[in-house]
Amino acid sequence: MGWAIALHGGAGDIPLSLPAHRREPAEAVLRHCLQIGVSALKANTPPLDVVELVVRELENSPHFNAGRGSVLTTNGTVEMEACIMDGTKKCGAVSGLSTIVNPISLARLVMEKTPHIYLAFDGAEAFAKEQGVETVESSHFITPRNIERLSQAKEANKVQLDYTQPPPPKDEPQDPAANEGDSQIGTVGCVAVDRHGNLATATSTGGFVNKMVGRIGDTPVIGAGTYANSFCAVSATGKGEFIIRATVARDVAALMEYKGLSLKEAAAYVIEQCTPKGTAGLVAVSVTGEVTMPFNTTGMFRACATEDEYSEFGIWPSLTDSAI
Ligand code: ASP
Repeated sequence: MGWAIALHGGAGDIPLSLPAHRREPAEAVLRHCLQIGVSALKANTPPLDVVELVVRELENSPHFNAGRGSVLTTNGTVEMEACIMDGTKKCGAVSGLSTIVNPISLARLVMEKTPHIYLAFDGAEAFAKEQGVETVESSHFITPRNIERLSQAKEANKVQLDYTQPPPPKDEPQDPAANEGDSQIGTVGCVAVDRHGNLATATSTGGFVNKMVGRIGDTPVIGAGTYANSFCAVSATGKGEFIIRATVARDVAALMEYKGLSLKEAAAYVIEQCTPKGTAGLVAVSVTGEVTMPFNTTGMFRACATEDEYSEFGIWPSLTDSAI
């Protein structure tokens, strides 16, 4: 039994041709965040603090779709969401945030300072004010890059899309499912376990480009995008509607709890059998320090490290990935 940590920066249709200027900064941030998490675990920082710390750092980067880099709704506004949970099943979640710098920390405050689990929209913003958390003008998110993303998604009649591919010709027949959302680069998550088997998970997102106002995805839904119990901690990414239907994160834990599967077996089963190809990925650690990062999308920004010096970093499938 040893510590382990894994993080993701979003699963989706990440083309192999992703330009270096898009790939390299995101990779650098992921490596940096992995380092922060590893140092914290080595210094015996509790996993709940570790996942919050790492996700805050990812939220502060403009290269991911969470916090500072969050994408726009169809009305050109921002509605961020986040969730945090530990192996004792304490949890907090937030949705519909438009001014909060670090949604993951607000989720933690909901968990620790309220009798509730999930706050959204005006109520969540009011609670944030009351708690004195750092905020910015909501106009801060209306960057030229975000406006461009939104207009591309609108032109292609898609609910998101973030690989800056030219939209298909308007008269080309399209599969309606295609409009339900190719996952995009960017949602972030981190899972960690310490030497004592304390587990925690955190996930944060801006959702999809061009999403309907008020749309809530899987990220803040306990058991869908985010879940931890005494067996494992899971953070999922991909097309939220599919992840919610499959209760992805909870099913991984349930397969371990009720069927005795290992973490790797449980996660591979959920990603291969319970979610359609091209829709989901996850990172997870178990109470005994196992780690797994399967996905059924083209790619997933991911990184992990364990106390016994196993480490992996990647975007596309590696030869050892079995979940594709
Ligand atoms: N799962 C997120 C959502 O549906 C998006 C993502 O993971 O990229 O909001």
